[in-house]
Amino acid sequence: MNFEEIKYKVINNIRIKPEEGLFLLQKAPILELGELAAFVREVKNPSPYVTFVVDTNPNYTNICTIDCIFCAFYRHPGEEGEYTYSVDELIQKFRESAAMGVTTILLQGGVNPNLSLDYYIELVNRTTKELPDIHPHFFSVSEIVGMAEVSRLSIEEVLRKLWDAGLRTLPGGGAEILSNRIKKKISNKKETADQWLDVMRTAHKIGYKSTATMMYGHIEKDEDIIEHLESLRKLQDETGGFTAFIPWSFKPGNTPLEKIIPHYASSTRYLQIIALSRIYLDNFAHIQASWFSEGKKIGQIALHFGADDFGGTLLEENVHAAANYVSKTNTDEVINLIKEAGFIPAQRTTLYQIIKIFE
Ligand code: SF4
Repeated sequence: MNFEEIKYKVINNIRIKPEEGLFLLQKAPILELGELAAFVREVKNPSPYVTFVVDTNPNYTNICTIDCIFCAFYRHPGEEGEYTYSVDELIQKFRESAAMGVTTILLQGGVNPNLSLDYYIELVNRTTKELPDIHPHFFSVSEIVGMAEVSRLSIEEVLRKLWDAGLRTLPGGGAEILSNRIKKKISNKKETADQWLDVMRTAHKIGYKSTATMMYGHIEKDEDIIEHLESLRKLQDETGGFTAFIPWSFKPGNTPLEKIIPHYASSTRYLQIIALSRIYLDNFAHIQASWFSEGKKIGQIALHFGADDFGGTLLEENVHAAANYVSKTNTDEVINLIKEAGFIPAQRTTLYQIIKIFE
């Protein structure tokens, strides 16, 4: 196996195998890998646009009983600093965001055993009815599993109730690395990799769309990253329900895992992963670059390594902030960053429909 053979397959739209993905991750020259991924991006998204969404990422509760060792955000019930917002408080927050031009609320929280399913249903119901300009992009797989446990309903029943209340998309958080071996070590009370995929499968079959994420740069091996991409590619073949793939690196500050992994993964690693995912996930329409988690300059470079979307403006963010990682922007800066990188910025909806182009 060599790079030229794999490149030939990619250029001719022949799906690459896991061992070829591993070769690209470990042995491909970085600039050639980026060039190949940029070629794939051109074929899949031949437009000169790079999209972004005006969004915010509040959290309704930080109470959680799952104890992931990579997480600095959660508090146990009764612990100092715990909080849970009421539905009224959240609707008020959302109203203020809508007044600032936000169109997507990406809402997640801890897995809080004190919250009933009615709380979530009421929140979705009121958001869709009272704030028609806001798209609720609510609840990761872990929270859906938590709701099923508290309500003693099946995952499908919970998802159908949320659907009936007006929810249509789910954020792809909680995937971390889709390897049961790794998940057992970093989040052994959380759903397994197979369960994460099952919840997404069930959601997609009901009609939901979702993103898929990956948090790398901790205890995973290269093979685990390939396993993650392979699992996503298979599920996407089956359901077609993923809109985009969003990788980011682990931020160790204030987490139990900090003692073992004290540093961030390198920027080179990020660019390799963006490029590899663009090539490997041949059935995903969009790959998202993150100005937020990897820095604005690297976010711009990632647009030349296969990414076609610049993520959200994230007016509020608390999870990385708890790990001492803070980065801020605004809509004007996102537009300028995309232009500086050589593309035309285009504001999109949660479902990637373009609503405004900034020539
Ligand atoms: S990552 Fe999510 S599920 Fe895990 S401890 Fe943090 S809040 Fe809880």
